[in-house]
Amino acid sequence: MIQRFLLFISFLLFVFTTTSFQPLDKMPEKKLKTKYVVVLVIDGPRFSETFGDSTCQYIPKLGRILKHEGTFYSNFQNNGPTYTISGHTAMTTGVYQSISNSGKHLPKNPSMFQYFLKSQNADKSEAWIIASKGKLEVLANTKAKKWWSLYMPSTYCGAKGNGADYVSDAQTFNKTKAVFAENTPTLTLINLLAVDAIAHQNDWNGYLEALKKCDDYAYQIWNEIQSNPEMKDKTTLFITNDHGRHLDGRKDGFKSHGDKCEGCKHISLLVLSPDVIKDRVIDQPAELIDISKTISVLLHFDMPTSKGRYLDELFL
Ligand SMILES: [Zn+2]
Ligand SMILES: [Zn+2]
Repeated sequence: MIQRFLLFISFLLFVFTTTSFQPLDKMPEKKLKTKYVVVLVIDGPRFSETFGDSTCQYIPKLGRILKHEGTFYSNFQNNGPTYTISGHTAMTTGVYQSISNSGKHLPKNPSMFQYFLKSQNADKSEAWIIASKGKLEVLANTKAKKWWSLYMPSTYCGAKGNGADYVSDAQTFNKTKAVFAENTPTLTLINLLAVDAIAHQNDWNGYLEALKKCDDYAYQIWNEIQSNPEMKDKTTLFITNDHGRHLDGRKDGFKSHGDKCEGCKHISLLVLSPDVIKDRVIDQPAELIDISKTISVLLHFDMPTSKGRYLDELFL
């Protein structure tokens, strides 16, 4: 009996001394092909009109083509305030916070852009925010004292650059093409507004049309990446949303959003990348704050203030 016990103990010792434990947020870097990361945010579609509809009739390119080219999270959530600025802030800082949706207040925590630019001592042309909604300019900065107005990315948030005006998704798409061609930034976030803006007008058919247009922009952006000699087969594209919209029968339904109903919280994440498995669906829960944490591992910088999880299962 004692002999068996000793044998068991020595077996345990053997296991503990020979297994190399890797920290959870580290990955085998030598296997990574990703050199560039792009986050595309389609503002405010409801899951029931996108991937939640098995025919994907309003997102034919995302649902019937691109989904099979990448890994899809079927249980992806915004677990914080379901508004535009708070949703984007969760994504870029890795922290949920209540923040004015007016674009007049800065996020509490430094963003992935700032952590990235500082850690790599990189020029601001290496990181871009290109947004149809001008108020998203606030994502470039933070209230955090040691970071305020430092290591800020390049921005195109409305044509005037003052954060006040909105531009069409066509202008945002054209700017994206130009930036990819001229700068080939390492880290880019793009926001398309049409789906959210038209839904707020209570225009159901217009909302569905906007979904189709954004679906097409997503497809074109992936094609831009794959036809760019620098970015081709070296870019990870995250396609996601900041929030959904109320379920039918909840308040004013698809017209609005902002609470914790399933329609507002349940969003989607599709990842196209040389480092993920094609045509794979992950049911495991994941959420907005996990995106920047995962990017920090892909691009080799730390995000100590992030509360997100590194989505290691993506790269298995
Ligand atoms: Zn909205
Ligand atoms: Zn809701």
